[in-house]
Amino acid sequence: MKYSLSSLVAQTLNGHKHWKRVLADAKPREKYDAIIVGGGGHGLATAYYLARKFGMANVAVLEKGAVGLGNVGRNTTIVRSNYLLAENVAFYDHALRMWETLERDLNYNVMVSQRGVVNLYHTDPQRDAFARRGNTMRICGADAELLGLERVRKLLPFLDFDNARFPILGGLVQKRGGTVRHDAVAWGYARAASDLGVDVVQNCEVTGFEISGGTATGVLTTRGTIRAPRIGLCVAGSSSILAQMAGFRLPVESHVLQAFVTEAVKPLIPNVITFGAGHFYVSQSDKGGLVFGGDLEGYNSYAQRGGLNGLADVVESGMAIMPMIGRLRLLRSWGGTVDMSMDGSPIMDRAPVAGIYVNAGWCYGGFKATPAAGLSFAHLVARDMPHEIAAPFSLDRFATGHVLDEKGQGAQPNLH
Ligand SMILES: Cc1cc2nc3c(=O)[nH]c(=O)nc-3n(C[C@H](O)[C@H](O)[C@H](O)COP(=O)(O)OP(=O)(O)OC[C@H]3O[C@@H](n4cnc5c(N)ncnc54)[C@H](O)[C@@H]3O)c2cc1C
Repeated sequence: MKYSLSSLVAQTLNGHKHWKRVLADAKPREKYDAIIVGGGGHGLATAYYLARKFGMANVAVLEKGAVGLGNVGRNTTIVRSNYLLAENVAFYDHALRMWETLERDLNYNVMVSQRGVVNLYHTDPQRDAFARRGNTMRICGADAELLGLERVRKLLPFLDFDNARFPILGGLVQKRGGTVRHDAVAWGYARAASDLGVDVVQNCEVTGFEISGGTATGVLTTRGTIRAPRIGLCVAGSSSILAQMAGFRLPVESHVLQAFVTEAVKPLIPNVITFGAGHFYVSQSDKGGLVFGGDLEGYNSYAQRGGLNGLADVVESGMAIMPMIGRLRLLRSWGGTVDMSMDGSPIMDRAPVAGIYVNAGWCYGGFKATPAAGLSFAHLVARDMPHEIAAPFSLDRFATGHVLDEKGQGAQPNLH
């Protein structure tokens, strides 16, 4: 079914009784050309591009719960390409360009809002670092502009400019960055993939692998054995668990990251703002709630919930730049399990077991990557060769030393 003004008017006149089911309730078959494990943004996007761009529609996405309940529906919805390393800027800017046309591609409103992302800076050395990052972005074809104090004050007059513990000196803005309605991305890709013939199988947990002569030939699931010569893993925080089931290890750790949303208020924050002297990022949802988050909880866990210490840390950072946030009531908080890699950059490569492909290590930032990650992972699964934009994200870079340490933190996953 195509969504359009005329279909909306026709359905309204018919009392909205004839909308077609958005997603077919697929039953798993015994054999496919490819299996994608994980019905989050990356798994669904991969399946969509396999069918759409690589002519592979005999594909199953196996999701242990319902699509959209993983990190894709738990993140703070920020999309941007304001990275320092050229490899990351090129990849994430490719994703940003894909977001710009995604709604038309999927015929689905994912509420792409290029409202801009402002990174605040608070010291002279930080200004210099941001200038360097902005220059790299521009050299790589992304947009960036360094703002002085007066322009930030004009843009965001509600910030604390006069009495702050960490005085704001200016900001680096990426105007094409912004937010996208996160769970709609899962639904849009699921519907589009399903329309192209992909089986999106929900409530189907992968519990093991069928491996013969060192090559994976299928997966064991709660709904029986399903076979395919190519198996793509897109399970985010569960990547290490699936790798262990298949008999290899990944250089990732699973950590909890929380997000928070306040009661709705009138339009206040026009874009996404990040605090430069701590870890805090905030935007305002279309419903009016302030959506914000900060650092990891700081310990390894597969739980999709955090604690009050995480909340206290995030709120403290929020109060440091906009004290009036302290007068808002918190409506909800939730956690997601993020797969932190050793250098803070993702992994998209063939696994050490033939027939398995890995899409993992997205840390805090895999939502904004979704379209480009889906496209390049589909390329890898279909052609057994990395897509050029994802070639730097190889698994062997940790052995060869070609790491992409965006923050320069070293092998400290909790600090990336
Ligand atoms: C609180 C929070 C805030 C974030 N904010 C941002 C942000 O603002 N911007 C940004 O770019 N990124 C952000 N991220 C990161 C981003 O959400 C993730 O990197 C990205 O969503 C991961 O890819 P995914 O969508 O495929 O993951 P998921 O949606 O987690 O998909 C993985 C799926 O695999 C399924 N699965 C796991 N094990 C199995 C199994 N054995 N069998 C079958 N299925 C299985 C899970 O149920 C899940 O649905 C945030 C993450 C969190 C938690």
